[in-house]
Amino acid sequence: MRRRACLALPAALPWLPGCAVPTPAFDGANGADGLDADLHHAAALRDAGLRDEHAWRLVRALAAGIGPRPAGSAGDARAVAWAQDALRGLGLQAVRADPVPLRVWQRGPAAARLTAPQARPLVMAALGNSVPAPPEGLEAEVAWYPDLAALMADTSDRARGRIVFIDQRTERTRDGSGYGRAVGARFAGPVEAARRGAVALAIRSIGTDRAAIAHTGATRYDIRVPRIPAFAVSVPDAEHMATLQAAGTPMRLAFTLQARSDVEAVTHNVIADLPGSDLAHEAVLIGAHLDSWDLGQGALDDAAGVGIVSAAAGLIAASGRRPRRTVRVVLFGNEENGFDGARAYGDRHANVVHQLVAESDFGAGPIYRLSARVQAEAWPQVQAMASVLAPLGVGLGVNTGTPGPDAAVLMRRHRWPALQLHQDGSRYFDVHHTEHDTVDQIDPAALRQNVACWAACTWLAAQSPVAFGPPTL
Ligand SMILES: [Zn+2]
Repeated sequence: MRRRACLALPAALPWLPGCAVPTPAFDGANGADGLDADLHHAAALRDAGLRDEHAWRLVRALAAGIGPRPAGSAGDARAVAWAQDALRGLGLQAVRADPVPLRVWQRGPAAARLTAPQARPLVMAALGNSVPAPPEGLEAEVAWYPDLAALMADTSDRARGRIVFIDQRTERTRDGSGYGRAVGARFAGPVEAARRGAVALAIRSIGTDRAAIAHTGATRYDIRVPRIPAFAVSVPDAEHMATLQAAGTPMRLAFTLQARSDVEAVTHNVIADLPGSDLAHEAVLIGAHLDSWDLGQGALDDAAGVGIVSAAAGLIAASGRRPRRTVRVVLFGNEENGFDGARAYGDRHANVVHQLVAESDFGAGPIYRLSARVQAEAWPQVQAMASVLAPLGVGLGVNTGTPGPDAAVLMRRHRWPALQLHQDGSRYFDVHHTEHDTVDQIDPAALRQNVACWAACTWLAAQSPVAFGPPTL
């Protein structure tokens, strides 16, 4: 591997490891002095972020003050109004709420219980988009499967007329890969069960906790397959059912589930800019999603992300230096159940050059790695970012990163470059999509570390002498 020349670093930056900062290509408009000054400023933003309390204030105001905010709900409307005030208060400009018409799903009352071998109430939550059960409810024998793959491999008639139960376990991992392997049961379970003649689907909650709570989240249907009601039960209840199953004990399950689908509503993308200078027509998009599920406060998912990216932009606004490119905060509507906000943003801003799209949507754990999806010529800029973040325990990943979910939609549809700041998600799926997703789950120090990383990276992306896109896909 070819060694790059060391960038001479001033003694005032002792936290930068020697020779760790490669020399990015730069031109006269952003020469050695400009680059040096940009690295200095990124470090100053990073250090300011470690002391900044704005994110913590924002998270508490949104999660505890406003609370649950499913797209199109009254809570969502309050959050949209609050977010605009909050972003203006951080010194951002052109703050607006772009309407996004959509059809939403609304939860109604629901309950479930085992009726055999013994009566036992189950802690349950309907999955998002679930059709309702008949008014009188449903009761049937349980057809138990250890995981989605076992259900998909079943060519027998066993599921017919029964309630399919998928006991898919979620492995605790730092990077969320355990969730990624398990969540297919939630997405595909109803279709696969209905294809085999089942009357309903129940799953072990897609979560890593052992609490008496159920995890909701979106599921999907296929117009070619009958739509059957779907819900999750708590992990302790799933353990009880696994014990009965292991003993060969037949189970019967009864439940009621009310819900409405396709309710006409409007949500909004809240957008705010910190205008750039010579490259103001290009955007560095840092985002999060404003909506949440109706259970809990949506503190980790995703008030934390809202607080982090808003505070990071606010730090840059307060720093006194105007970025070259426009720093744009986008708080997306309806990430949780359809990505309507991300698609609407992409449609409306398809012609804007995006230097970057990135999203904070994995809770409030500390960032431990930086990866990207940029053109090869821009990778040294990402390496420079990593060098500024190294003192915070952040390592450099690879140039095949995937940003948060809304940003990933934009990256794929528009081929916009992306940055991924990997958070430690070891505990995220203990509370994800549940009533336990509340502000007391957040460590304010870890939140500040996030703000520090986002402020430094956003600044360097805005100042880069190199275009980040089109990315190497
Ligand atoms: Zn989220």
